[in-house]
Amino acid sequence: MPDAVYQYDVLVIGAGHAGTEAALAAARIGAKTALLTTNLDTVGQMSCNPAIGGVGKGQIVREIDALGGAMGLATDAAGIQFRMLNRRKGPAMHSPRAQADKKAYQAEVKRIVEEQENLSLRQEAVEDLIVEGEDTHIAGVRVRGGAEYHARCVVLTTGTFLQALMHTGEAKTPGGRAGEGTSSGLSNALERFGFRLERFKTGTPPRLNGRTIDYDRCELQPGDDEPQPFSFLTNKITQSQLPCHITYTTPEVHDLIRANLSRAPMYSGQINTSGPRYCPSIEDKIVRFADKQQHQLFLEPEGRNTLEVYVNGVSTSLPRDVQDAMFRMIPGCENAQIMRYGYAVEYDYAPPDQLRPTLETKKIAGLYFAGQINGTTGYEEAGAQGLIAGANAALAVVDREPIVLSRDEAYIGVLIDDLVTCGVDEPYRMFTSRAEYRLLLRQDNADRRLTPLGIAAGLVSKERQERLRQKLGHVDRVAHLLATTRSNGKSLEEHLRRPEIDWHALLEITPQESAAELAAIDPEACAQALFDAKYAGYVARQQTEVDRAARLAEKRIPDSFDYARIVQMRHEAREKLERVRPTNLAQASRISGVTPADIALLMAHLGAI
Ligand code: FAD
Repeated sequence: MPDAVYQYDVLVIGAGHAGTEAALAAARIGAKTALLTTNLDTVGQMSCNPAIGGVGKGQIVREIDALGGAMGLATDAAGIQFRMLNRRKGPAMHSPRAQADKKAYQAEVKRIVEEQENLSLRQEAVEDLIVEGEDTHIAGVRVRGGAEYHARCVVLTTGTFLQALMHTGEAKTPGGRAGEGTSSGLSNALERFGFRLERFKTGTPPRLNGRTIDYDRCELQPGDDEPQPFSFLTNKITQSQLPCHITYTTPEVHDLIRANLSRAPMYSGQINTSGPRYCPSIEDKIVRFADKQQHQLFLEPEGRNTLEVYVNGVSTSLPRDVQDAMFRMIPGCENAQIMRYGYAVEYDYAPPDQLRPTLETKKIAGLYFAGQINGTTGYEEAGAQGLIAGANAALAVVDREPIVLSRDEAYIGVLIDDLVTCGVDEPYRMFTSRAEYRLLLRQDNADRRLTPLGIAAGLVSKERQERLRQKLGHVDRVAHLLATTRSNGKSLEEHLRRPEIDWHALLEITPQESAAELAAIDPEACAQALFDAKYAGYVARQQTEVDRAARLAEKRIPDSFDYARIVQMRHEAREKLERVRPTNLAQASRISGVTPADIALLMAHLGAI
């Protein structure tokens, strides 16, 4: 008999980036939710870089925000430096990024969680799953000490903690993050219920004491003069910004690392799992880009009330003496003291082709996975999956339709579709190049794309609804003025289609009365209407492709479809379709190794042609 039993609608396990968004989303929809995590002092903890956003990732944060999530709001409150990346490129590439005060960020996320109605935050270490039926339905979890939590749905977001092992040189310590433990009970439980688990690794750089850095020998990197908030609810970033600095590795550093490669766990054979290709360790960079004379390093403050500095670009698991020696050779860091050494961590993840597009597992109904447990890397990717998994768990409790975002609706749609359709062979991170409809999926229009959906699902506050209503009104007004105001015999809209005419140039040729009205309208709404007018042709072309894909997506494949029936189909294609079990023809066509000829056969068997 358990010593205590608690009853909820939805349980979320782990309060990292995925878990907090999952629990908030479930509770916002109205499910009685419990968020169980091993340590209440690490809710929303940034395990690695104290920064949110970046190329492809910033767009995801705006989408999380548009759906009512916490990440954008917490970043606005705790940000210490804001930059819009790719500003010189087209609007589809504009990507917001912010450095955050790590402690303040975590405190803000915890506060948002604590204030959420329907949500109980509790310190518990989950050790086992309770599954009913013939191991087919989740019923709850068992925690350390024997208490049980029962619920219709459970969302697992345990990040880098499953069977986690940290490495610095030859030293190995069990744990998912410096100073913390590992979860082996849950890995065992997942394997017992038939889930495939595999291993990935990731790493983190050393942190330095800023007092011991000579910033005069580094380049200054200030934030934007007019910082743009992440959240559609934040009017303005009012806090002061802190500068970052840039320095470089030198050929001597590279020689030192080369001479010590045999002591690096990645090269000594101590670790033989894949790490994030796009976020390589310094030892990887020296091997892979052998002819490069230097690598850029960003010195990023970890907060306003600490001198600790994160050295972005030098993630490493080399032994401590090599890490110390390395900084002696880096300009500006010759006398720098390491406060925390870099390390790598190996952990179990569950290959995400075991999930449905809702993020529910195929094996156990009511059990959802989100975040790094699905083979992704990054706070933003984790937060996005958490929000969708938590929302779908809450919707399932009341038998409502789940949220499945399509690839033309959101980066989140691209992310989840890639995961469940293609699986992963290295830690997955988002890039703009993964999205085929980039022009539609801009950071500036995330609210227009997704907030209506959030309203329908019950994810979005009244305030956010009202914000969107006002913005749409302003965009319509600007669009009307552009279409109806004439200058030199042409509408303003026609003028805008000429590449050399930007907003500023347009206002100069606009008759005075309309120019005054346009100047008084919210600049964000003007920017939206400007984009709509300027890129209308490109957007229409992309929309035609979207419509074509949508027609394929309408051809549903029944859950029970027997691929063995298609005897003419190649064995490889049959096997992959069997494993992924796509829900429609569009998803089937994206599985790597499934050719157009295989799709034609499948269509014929479905009676779709
Ligand atoms: P996490 O943030 O790991 O949160 C997991 C949560 O689950 C924690 O709160 C934990 O306490 C809790 N938990 C675990 N087990 C249990 C249990 N049994 N019971 C209850 N609660 C439990 N990302 C990058 O993009 N770039 C990088 O360079 C990078 N480097 C990294 C380096 C290191 C050392 C680490 C640890 C992570 C790194 N990451 C990096 C990954 C980034 O931290 C994760 O992608 C992100 O934090 C994942 O969020 P999550 O919510 O899935 O998991």
